[in-house]
Amino acid sequence: MKLVLATHNAHKVEELRRILGERLGEWELVGYDGPEPVEDGDTFEANALIKARAASAYTGLAAIADDSGISVDALDGAPGIHSARFAGTRNDADNVALLVSRMSGVADRTAQFTCAAAFVSGTVEHVETAIWPGTVLEEPSGGGGFGYDPVFQPAGLSVSSAQLTADEKNAISHRAQAFVRLLDWMSAQ
Ligand code: IMP
Repeated sequence: MKLVLATHNAHKVEELRRILGERLGEWELVGYDGPEPVEDGDTFEANALIKARAASAYTGLAAIADDSGISVDALDGAPGIHSARFAGTRNDADNVALLVSRMSGVADRTAQFTCAAAFVSGTVEHVETAIWPGTVLEEPSGGGGFGYDPVFQPAGLSVSSAQLTADEKNAISHRAQAFVRLLDWMSAQ
């Protein structure tokens, strides 16, 4: 059975292929190059469903999608669902630079990544959400991962998530937790 991965973000595709790996069972993961829908939901869950619905409708296949981002307590949860476009350029380095400057001199550095993972096949829809708590660093460090990884220090660790190996990140991240739960749900159907 084919399962469309409804994302154009190459970093996410790479992470998800590693996370899903053997857990896919009889599902064959296929890429998606159809139209991208307008993500106008108010929540991670709503936007993940919008992406999965669009890919499922376009391909006629079952589809999975994620919507994710970083929410910073001292910024009232920003950038949240707007994480990819925080600096207005859709560029990771610009987003990180803006977050570092907004957090300059701020004592409470608590933040969390959230990932909503959605499955859609016809009228069947399901979403699982997971968070990854941590803090915002004052300066970027590390060359792994993507997005805000260089300025995110996971709770309980003394390095940024960009300093973790891919396997280390995929063992604990918001995306891994959400998709492992989603696959558990799929295999229970
Ligand atoms: P989306 O493609 O609309 O879900 O945007 C997600 C955005 O959130 C990405 O462009 C990143 O900026 C950020 N993000 C989500 N997950 C991660 C992660 O695992 N590491 C770093 N940044 C992330």
